[in-house]
Amino acid sequence: MTTFPTILDYYASPNQREAEAAVLHFQPKGQKHRLVLDGSIYFPGGGGQLHDVGEIIGENGGRLRVERVQFDNGSIVHEGLLEAGSFEHLEPVRIRLDWNRRYQGMRLHTAGHLLHDAFLTLRPTGLVPRKAEHNRDPYVEYHGSLDARDQKPLEESIDALVWADLPVVMREATFDELVAGCRFLPTNLPKNKPLRTVRIGNGELVPCGGVHVARTGEIGRVVVTAIHQTADQTGSRVHYQIVDR
Ligand SMILES: [Zn+2]
Repeated sequence: MTTFPTILDYYASPNQREAEAAVLHFQPKGQKHRLVLDGSIYFPGGGGQLHDVGEIIGENGGRLRVERVQFDNGSIVHEGLLEAGSFEHLEPVRIRLDWNRRYQGMRLHTAGHLLHDAFLTLRPTGLVPRKAEHNRDPYVEYHGSLDARDQKPLEESIDALVWADLPVVMREATFDELVAGCRFLPTNLPKNKPLRTVRIGNGELVPCGGVHVARTGEIGRVVVTAIHQTADQTGSRVHYQIVDR
Protein backbone atom coordinates (compact mmCIF):
# COMPACT_ATOMS: atom_id res chain seq x y z
CA MET A 1 0.00 0.00 0.00
CA THR A 2 1.25 3.47 -0.83
CA THR A 3 2.08 5.55 2.20
CA PHE A 4 -0.53 7.96 3.54
CA PRO A 5 1.13 9.58 6.53
CA THR A 6 -1.05 10.01 9.59
CA ILE A 7 -0.38 12.57 12.34
CA LEU A 8 -0.15 10.55 15.57
CA ASP A 9 -2.54 12.70 17.61
CA TYR A 10 -2.64 10.24 20.54
CA TYR A 11 0.79 11.47 21.64
CA ALA A 12 -0.06 15.19 21.65
CA SER A 13 -3.58 14.63 23.01
CA PRO A 14 -3.61 11.36 24.95
CA ASN A 15 -6.85 12.29 26.73
CA GLN A 16 -8.85 13.02 23.60
CA ARG A 17 -11.61 10.47 23.11
CA GLU A 18 -13.26 12.12 20.08
CA ALA A 19 -11.75 14.01 17.15
CA GLU A 20 -12.29 15.13 13.57
CA ALA A 21 -10.12 14.10 10.64
CA ALA A 22 -10.17 13.71 6.85
CA VAL A 23 -10.08 10.50 4.78
CA LEU A 24 -6.85 9.79 2.90
CA HIS A 25 -7.52 6.23 1.82
CA PHE A 26 -10.37 3.73 1.99
CA GLN A 27 -10.52 0.21 0.61
CA PRO A 28 -12.09 -3.21 1.25
CA LYS A 29 -9.96 -6.00 2.66
CA GLY A 30 -11.81 -9.32 2.62
CA GLN A 31 -14.99 -8.95 4.67
CA LYS A 32 -13.56 -5.84 6.35
CA HIS A 33 -12.56 -2.33 5.29
CA ARG A 34 -9.42 -0.32 5.94
CA LEU A 35 -9.42 3.43 6.46
CA VAL A 36 -6.47 5.83 6.71
CA LEU A 37 -6.96 9.40 7.96
CA ASP A 38 -4.77 12.52 7.99
CA GLY A 39 -4.61 12.35 11.80
CA SER A 40 -5.73 9.81 14.38
CA ILE A 41 -6.24 9.49 18.12
CA TYR A 42 -6.28 5.67 17.74
CA PHE A 43 -3.24 4.11 19.41
CA PRO A 44 -2.09 1.20 17.19
CA GLY A 45 -0.83 -0.87 20.10
CA GLY A 46 2.73 -1.76 21.01
CA GLY A 47 5.11 -2.13 23.93
CA GLY A 48 2.62 -4.47 25.58
CA GLN A 49 -0.28 -2.00 25.40
CA LEU A 50 -3.48 -2.88 23.51
CA HIS A 51 -4.59 -0.98 20.40
CA ASP A 52 -7.75 1.13 20.51
CA VAL A 53 -11.16 0.17 19.17
CA GLY A 54 -14.16 2.41 18.45
CA GLU A 55 -16.04 3.91 15.53
CA ILE A 56 -15.48 6.34 12.67
CA ILE A 57 -18.45 8.19 11.20
CA GLY A 58 -18.28 10.00 7.88
CA GLU A 59 -20.07 13.21 6.93
CA ASN A 60 -21.86 11.29 4.15
CA GLY A 61 -23.17 8.55 6.43
CA GLY A 62 -20.35 5.97 6.28
CA ARG A 63 -19.78 4.13 9.56
CA LEU A 64 -16.75 1.92 10.31
CA ARG A 65 -16.66 -0.19 13.48
CA VAL A 66 -12.91 -0.20 14.20
CA GLU A 67 -11.72 -3.60 15.43
CA ARG A 68 -8.00 -3.50 14.65
CA VAL A 69 -5.47 -0.69 14.34
CA GLN A 70 -1.99 -1.00 12.88
CA PHE A 71 0.96 1.28 12.30
CA ASP A 72 2.03 0.67 8.71
CA ASN A 73 4.92 2.65 7.28
CA GLY A 74 3.78 6.02 8.67
CA SER A 75 0.05 5.35 8.40
CA ILE A 76 -2.41 4.45 11.11
CA VAL A 77 -4.64 1.84 9.45
CA HIS A 78 -8.11 1.48 11.02
CA GLU A 79 -9.64 -1.86 10.08
CA GLY A 80 -13.12 -3.11 10.83
CA LEU A 81 -16.68 -3.70 9.82
CA LEU A 82 -18.34 -1.22 7.46
CA GLU A 83 -21.75 -0.86 9.11
CA ALA A 84 -23.18 1.74 6.73
CA GLY A 85 -22.39 3.72 3.58
CA SER A 86 -18.87 4.37 2.34
CA PHE A 87 -16.05 6.95 2.64
CA GLU A 88 -14.71 9.35 0.02
CA HIS A 89 -11.27 10.86 -0.40
CA LEU A 90 -10.87 13.92 1.89
CA GLU A 91 -14.31 13.47 3.42
CA PRO A 92 -14.48 14.86 6.97
CA VAL A 93 -15.07 12.17 9.61
CA ARG A 94 -15.72 12.03 13.35
CA ILE A 95 -13.63 9.49 15.28
CA ARG A 96 -14.55 8.02 18.64
CA LEU A 97 -12.57 5.73 20.91
CA ASP A 98 -13.75 3.09 23.33
CA TRP A 99 -12.44 5.31 26.11
CA ASN A 100 -12.76 2.80 28.97
CA ARG A 101 -10.48 0.35 27.16
CA ARG A 102 -7.99 3.06 26.23
CA TYR A 103 -7.89 4.64 29.71
CA GLN A 104 -7.49 1.24 31.35
CA GLY A 105 -4.62 0.55 28.90
CA MET A 106 -2.91 3.85 29.78
CA ARG A 107 -3.27 3.22 33.53
CA LEU A 108 -1.92 -0.33 33.20
CA HIS A 109 1.02 0.76 31.05
CA THR A 110 2.02 3.63 33.34
CA ALA A 111 1.62 1.27 36.33
CA GLY A 112 4.14 -1.12 34.73
CA HIS A 113 6.71 1.66 34.40
CA LEU A 114 5.98 2.88 37.92
CA LEU A 115 6.50 -0.67 39.21
CA HIS A 116 9.95 -0.64 37.61
CA ASP A 117 10.85 2.73 39.17
CA ALA A 118 9.60 1.54 42.56
CA PHE A 119 11.56 -1.70 42.26
CA LEU A 120 14.75 0.27 41.52
CA THR A 121 14.34 2.15 44.80
CA LEU A 122 14.29 -1.26 46.60
CA ARG A 123 16.98 -2.91 44.44
CA PRO A 124 19.16 -0.20 42.89
CA THR A 125 21.45 -2.77 41.23
CA GLY A 126 20.89 -6.06 39.47
CA LEU A 127 17.47 -5.38 37.98
CA VAL A 128 17.58 -5.75 34.21
CA PRO A 129 14.15 -5.54 32.54
CA ARG A 130 13.59 -7.47 29.32
CA LYS A 131 9.89 -7.55 28.53
CA ALA A 132 6.49 -6.30 29.68
CA GLU A 133 2.78 -6.78 29.05
CA HIS A 134 0.22 -4.19 30.06
CA ASN A 135 -3.10 -5.75 29.19
CA ARG A 136 -5.11 -8.64 30.65
CA ASP A 137 -2.35 -10.34 32.64
CA PRO A 138 0.07 -7.47 33.14
CA TYR A 139 3.65 -8.12 34.20
CA VAL A 140 7.19 -6.79 33.98
CA GLU A 141 9.84 -9.40 33.23
CA TYR A 142 13.46 -9.22 34.39
CA HIS A 143 16.59 -11.22 33.70
CA GLY A 144 17.66 -13.62 36.43
CA SER A 145 15.83 -14.66 39.56
CA LEU A 146 14.03 -12.32 41.93
CA ASP A 147 13.03 -12.73 45.55
CA ALA A 148 9.29 -13.34 45.98
CA ARG A 149 9.57 -11.72 49.42
CA ASP A 150 9.92 -8.36 47.64
CA GLN A 151 6.22 -8.52 46.77
CA LYS A 152 4.88 -6.54 49.76
CA PRO A 153 7.68 -3.95 50.02
CA LEU A 154 7.39 -3.39 46.26
CA GLU A 155 3.66 -2.82 46.53
CA GLU A 156 4.21 -0.28 49.33
CA SER A 157 6.86 1.49 47.32
CA ILE A 158 4.55 1.73 44.27
CA ASP A 159 1.77 3.00 46.52
CA ALA A 160 3.98 5.86 47.72
CA LEU A 161 4.75 6.88 44.13
CA VAL A 162 1.03 6.80 43.23
CA TRP A 163 0.23 9.03 46.21
CA ALA A 164 3.03 11.43 45.24
CA ASP A 165 0.97 12.07 42.05
CA LEU A 166 4.12 12.41 39.94
CA PRO A 167 4.01 13.81 36.39
CA VAL A 168 4.44 11.32 33.53
CA VAL A 169 6.34 12.88 30.64
CA MET A 170 6.34 11.27 27.16
CA ARG A 171 8.43 12.70 24.38
CA GLU A 172 10.13 11.98 21.09
CA ALA A 173 13.87 11.23 21.19
CA THR A 174 16.71 10.46 18.82
CA PHE A 175 18.62 7.20 18.97
CA ASP A 176 21.63 9.10 20.37
CA GLU A 177 19.50 10.61 23.15
CA LEU A 178 18.32 7.11 24.06
CA VAL A 179 21.88 5.80 24.17
CA ALA A 180 23.01 8.75 26.29
CA GLY A 181 20.03 8.85 28.68
CA CYS A 182 18.67 5.32 29.13
CA ARG A 183 20.22 2.69 31.35
CA PHE A 184 18.49 -0.21 29.58
CA LEU A 185 18.01 -0.24 25.82
CA PRO A 186 15.92 -3.01 24.29
CA THR A 187 17.46 -4.83 21.33
CA ASN A 188 14.24 -4.50 19.33
CA LEU A 189 13.90 -0.70 19.11
CA PRO A 190 11.48 0.16 16.26
CA LYS A 191 13.20 1.29 13.06
CA ASN A 192 10.07 2.36 11.16
CA LYS A 193 8.72 5.02 13.53
CA PRO A 194 9.99 7.88 15.70
CA LEU A 195 11.64 6.76 18.94
CA ARG A 196 10.09 7.94 22.18
CA THR A 197 10.77 7.97 25.90
CA VAL A 198 8.79 8.17 29.10
CA ARG A 199 9.91 9.43 32.50
CA ILE A 200 7.90 9.45 35.73
CA GLY A 201 8.86 12.24 38.12
CA ASN A 202 12.65 12.02 38.53
CA GLY A 203 12.68 8.31 37.71
CA GLU A 204 14.47 6.41 34.96
CA LEU A 205 14.34 7.62 31.37
CA VAL A 206 12.89 4.63 29.54
CA PRO A 207 12.37 3.98 25.81
CA CYS A 208 8.61 3.69 25.30
CA GLY A 209 6.19 4.34 22.45
CA GLY A 210 3.11 3.86 24.61
CA VAL A 211 0.41 6.28 25.68
CA HIS A 212 0.33 7.19 29.36
CA VAL A 213 -1.78 8.91 31.98
CA ALA A 214 -0.57 12.41 32.85
CA ARG A 215 0.04 11.77 36.57
CA THR A 216 0.61 8.68 38.69
CA GLY A 217 -2.42 9.51 40.87
CA GLU A 218 -4.63 8.47 37.95
CA ILE A 219 -3.40 4.88 38.21
CA GLY A 220 -5.00 4.26 41.59
CA ARG A 221 -3.95 1.35 43.77
CA VAL A 222 -1.55 -1.22 42.29
CA VAL A 223 -1.45 -4.76 43.67
CA VAL A 224 1.64 -6.91 43.07
CA THR A 225 -0.01 -10.31 42.62
CA ALA A 226 3.04 -12.56 42.19
CA ILE A 227 6.79 -12.70 41.62
CA HIS A 228 7.95 -15.94 40.03
CA GLN A 229 10.48 -17.45 37.63
CA THR A 230 9.70 -17.76 33.92
CA ALA A 231 9.12 -21.27 32.52
CA ASP A 232 12.64 -21.35 31.01
CA GLN A 233 14.07 -20.26 34.42
CA THR A 234 16.23 -17.53 32.87
CA GLY A 235 14.07 -14.69 34.15
CA SER A 236 11.38 -13.61 36.58
CA ARG A 237 8.02 -11.99 36.15
CA VAL A 238 6.44 -9.48 38.48
CA HIS A 239 2.68 -9.68 37.97
CA TYR A 240 0.47 -6.78 38.96
CA GLN A 241 -3.06 -5.48 38.68
CA ILE A 242 -4.66 -2.12 39.17
CA VAL A 243 -7.68 -1.89 41.42
CA ASP A 244 -10.73 -0.74 39.46
CA ARG A 245 -12.22 2.52 40.50
ZN1 LIG B 1 6.28 1.48 27.95
